[in-house]
Amino acid sequence: MSKGYHEYFGNIHMHTTHSDGVGDFEELVQAAAAVGLNFVFVTDHNVLVRESEEGYRHGVLTLVGEEIHDPDLQPPGNHLLCLGVEEDLTHLGKNPQQLIDAVNEQGGLPFLAHPIERFTELIPTHYPWHNWEVTDFHGIELWNYMSNFRGMVNSKAQALLMGFFPHFFTRGPLPEMLAKWDELTAQRPVVALGGVDVHAETYNIGPIRRCFLPYAHCARALNTHILAAEPFAGPNGAANPGQSDPGVAHDRAQVLGALAAGRCWLGYDLVEWTTGFRFQAEHDRGAGVMGDTIGQPSPGQPTHFSVTAPADGTIRLLRGGKTVAESQGRGLEHTDAEPGVYRVEVWKQRWGRPRGWIFSNPIYVRE
Ligand SMILES: [Zn+2]
Ligand SMILES: [Zn+2]
Repeated sequence: MSKGYHEYFGNIHMHTTHSDGVGDFEELVQAAAAVGLNFVFVTDHNVLVRESEEGYRHGVLTLVGEEIHDPDLQPPGNHLLCLGVEEDLTHLGKNPQQLIDAVNEQGGLPFLAHPIERFTELIPTHYPWHNWEVTDFHGIELWNYMSNFRGMVNSKAQALLMGFFPHFFTRGPLPEMLAKWDELTAQRPVVALGGVDVHAETYNIGPIRRCFLPYAHCARALNTHILAAEPFAGPNGAANPGQSDPGVAHDRAQVLGALAAGRCWLGYDLVEWTTGFRFQAEHDRGAGVMGDTIGQPSPGQPTHFSVTAPADGTIRLLRGGKTVAESQGRGLEHTDAEPGVYRVEVWKQRWGRPRGWIFSNPIYVRE
């Protein structure tokens, strides 16, 4: 089942000097190329720089969307990742439903960015999603890499430690975010992705200056891995982004197609590369991979689930957010008669505690 697909991976949700990021596209893509990312998806605040910046750089497919919010909203929040949009939609930032509808109309994919955020007394500012009554958003950012640190900063000493050793603090998506996602997918398919939200800002803590989560770190941290329907064409001769390149349009469609279908997982690649992970299911009436809705088997017939991990870990198969099977190692096989929404988490012991390593999109065993 997974055989017909082609795996690629990249950083999603990145900021550059076009908004409040510190690096330009060149710096960002050099960091991505150094660790072998296939693509990056840049989403600057309230600006779409697609025409000038999209294309291949150093062999990395550079895609451009935008992250739109209402600048007048107090408290701030309602950040929407708009992937695959053709025209800037910043003017709709005041109305989240109109904005979501407009992204869909352009054939783009609206994802709620860092929809649930923790905060502390030291850093009380936070930017959650407020308007949960909206409909038709395509997905959510299940794990925002940068945002998760926000809720851990209780002292300046801790902030300093975090600046130098972020990996000691990171555990995985917020449990309340996972619970919210399970609640959403009980109603309809909602695709999850992982965003790094890289800004690479430098902070002063007393006499010490430290760039927090630079581009090079983020490229090796949290990636979204996709299963594309067709192999990438690669750069087809255009020397610079912005020049016409037929390969870019094809490969852009592959990334967006996989994100549209939910054929993707979040890989915390800093723990160990998650390349090669697979999750599939099969019954007498259908079969599919993550993201697919495969219907229900005939009465009395079971569904067989199969998980392959690229290295040892604790593999959990969950239905409706509850673990139904667990194994240690590189694989899990499970047969289940219950319909429902099945997804996989793989955890791995690293730096002294369990780290969330892989979070798959669900297979929907229902009509
Ligand atoms: Zn944001
Ligand atoms: Zn952002």
